[in-house]
Amino acid sequence: MSYVVWFKELRKDSIAIAGGKGSNIGEMLTLHLPVPNGFAVTAQTYGEYLEKTRIKDKILKFLENLDVEDTDKLQAVAKQIQELIISTPIPQNMAEEIMYTYEMLGSIKQKATDLVEPKEVFVAVRSSATAEDLPEASFAGQQATFLNVKGKEQVVSAVLACWASLFTARAIYYRVKNKFVHEKVLISALVQKMVNAEKSGIMFTVNPSTNHDDEIVIEAIYGLGELIVGGEINPDLYVVDKKTRDIKKIEVRKKDFGLFRNEKGENEKRAITKDKQERQVLNEKQVKELARLGKKLEEHYKKPQDIEWAVEKEEVYIVQTRAVTTFKPHTVERPDVADETGKILLKGETASAGVYTGPVKIVHDPSELNKVQKGDVLVTTMTTPDMVPAMQRAGAIVTNEGGMTCHAAIVSREMGTPCIVGTQHATDLLKDGEMITVHATRGMVYEGKIEVKELQKEPVESISRGEEVVTATEIKVIMDLPDFAMKAAATGADGVGLVRLEIMIADGGIHPAEYIRQRREEDYVHLLKEGIRKIAKAFGHKPVWIRCSDMRSDEYRNLQGGEKEPHETDPMIGWHGIRRLLDEKKILRAEFQAVKELHDEGFDNVGIMLPFVIRVDELRRAKEIMKEAGLEPVKEIDFGVMVETPAACWIIEDLCKEGMSFVSFGTNDLTQLTLGIDRNNERIAHLFSEMHPAVLGEMAKVIQMCKKYKVKTSICGQAGSKPEMAEFLVRQGVDSISANADAVDGIRHTVARAEKKILLDAERKK
Ligand code: PEP
Ligand code: MG
Repeated sequence: MSYVVWFKELRKDSIAIAGGKGSNIGEMLTLHLPVPNGFAVTAQTYGEYLEKTRIKDKILKFLENLDVEDTDKLQAVAKQIQELIISTPIPQNMAEEIMYTYEMLGSIKQKATDLVEPKEVFVAVRSSATAEDLPEASFAGQQATFLNVKGKEQVVSAVLACWASLFTARAIYYRVKNKFVHEKVLISALVQKMVNAEKSGIMFTVNPSTNHDDEIVIEAIYGLGELIVGGEINPDLYVVDKKTRDIKKIEVRKKDFGLFRNEKGENEKRAITKDKQERQVLNEKQVKELARLGKKLEEHYKKPQDIEWAVEKEEVYIVQTRAVTTFKPHTVERPDVADETGKILLKGETASAGVYTGPVKIVHDPSELNKVQKGDVLVTTMTTPDMVPAMQRAGAIVTNEGGMTCHAAIVSREMGTPCIVGTQHATDLLKDGEMITVHATRGMVYEGKIEVKELQKEPVESISRGEEVVTATEIKVIMDLPDFAMKAAATGADGVGLVRLEIMIADGGIHPAEYIRQRREEDYVHLLKEGIRKIAKAFGHKPVWIRCSDMRSDEYRNLQGGEKEPHETDPMIGWHGIRRLLDEKKILRAEFQAVKELHDEGFDNVGIMLPFVIRVDELRRAKEIMKEAGLEPVKEIDFGVMVETPAACWIIEDLCKEGMSFVSFGTNDLTQLTLGIDRNNERIAHLFSEMHPAVLGEMAKVIQMCKKYKVKTSICGQAGSKPEMAEFLVRQGVDSISANADAVDGIRHTVARAEKKILLDAERKK
């Protein structure tokens, strides 16, 4: 048996030998498409490696009874298997054949006009997985790829690393979830000459932004294509008529730099010379040639294609092609699945538990909000604060996007409205007017009306209700909607740990910046006073901490004046919170003025906190403005800082020295920024964890430092409603914990238990 197969010997049906990617390349070669040359180390070679080295049984043993939902265990097993493979060398005869073929590759001409290249060429080593008996199985993108590999030993190592990558945690999880038997999944390693790309890009044989299937879209940059995928460079855009190959549109974008391979095989950023920066990357001939190749590929595969291409010495190469998976000519198809309850239409994340049946109202944009009547199910891409009135009318809410700390989740929890977020396809799949049952507790949307018996919220453990639970740690509530103040106060919470002003602002319909532009500061002050007063009243003399407005530029466009908000690449880390308020001091002044006037009315339980602090001078300057409004921060009013950026954690001692009454952990942002995980991105929601040691470490450090300076500590992020976080914080000695109204009772019990345990532990140690 030969351990390797040249690409030109591969065909469409070579999946069992070279996986999906390998057979694809073979097929392109039979179509005379310009594909860089190379060879596949076959899937059978991998199989033989496992047998000959006798590591197969060891691997299967590791995987036996593995609970893939136990992330720590899964990660540990994945690591052990990968280490086992990497440390088990490829048998000599196999390695020699790979090395020999690699050297041959270096001396084969790509085209008749090529010079014979040196023997050791740069290659890409890619994984191409395949499932025995299942030619259609797709494992695209799950395994490793190594670029710019040079040298025969290095190639052999890269092949081994590809094999090992069959056992990443993600790949193991995917196989288990999709019921693939591990031992039946094999992997081929493709060794392919690297094009030394002077230009490269992507081509879609349908227009992905308009869904037009009569257009080909090409994106092009200088150098290697990675920068397009990473979004670091805006590529040129060419739209071509698929039939006539006429170029319909060209958008040339400025490209300051590109990624190029240097002699050592490293990718390095190089500046693009001034004269080329704003010039078209591709000439007309190249655009048309690419479009011709794209059309040919689509005709052959009978499906729209997503193609990676590159140009070296003015020759176009096709690097990869695959079917476009996200193209939706009409709508996404409904799944044909059911469980014991009914027919499942969608799945998502539980943002606010409960079950509700009602008619669907799809809101594509805020102008349609009026169509949501009392009792409808509001279905939308993502809610924004200006949708709150419609959300209050809705019986349930379903969104395409978002995670546990997105706007829809926060508000629906407060209102007690069942809500599922992150379903991806709700607005495509559901039809206006149809009846659905939103089983938010399970995160499922069912067709029609479903009778659900067991309900609604999980009972609060076994502690009897009515029994007064006293805790040393204060238990507060989070709330934003003044109309829900009585409901929140009825929890018996020791105060309010966070009032998000944005929600009452959105209810007023005018952007704060617009009040200022129209010189209507007084109206803004009035609006805030009305809302805050309702809350302060409901809570008697208990502390109510309101947060200065924290308005991201993309969330309030529909308010009056919202259209003047800047367009930012990433509003989440853009112009909001204290950084904006200090740029637009009149807004901050008005907010402080409202609080000062409420103090004058006797509501001196109202305190203030500053959002998104990263610098000491932000605290200092805000305090000055508070003083100008007539209240002495810390002395006359609780004046605190949200700790929701890693920066705030690092400078905590200086913040303490500057003087403040308290800090409150905004774990939604703190987790997002510490882990680098967009809190609204449903794809990575499973990785978003406030219990990550990095986040906990930051919090522990901050609490310790604050104790030294007698600054009170608190939490107001969503994690405060989680028992495991509450317990952690109690152990760290936090002063107060804020939870959602529906979680206050449970958290109070958790805290009581944790406190008792700490006392007992201390007693035992004596
Ligand atoms: C937070 O970031 O944890 C927080 C409470 O603020 P928001 O969710 O409004 O960003
Ligand atoms: Mg925040």
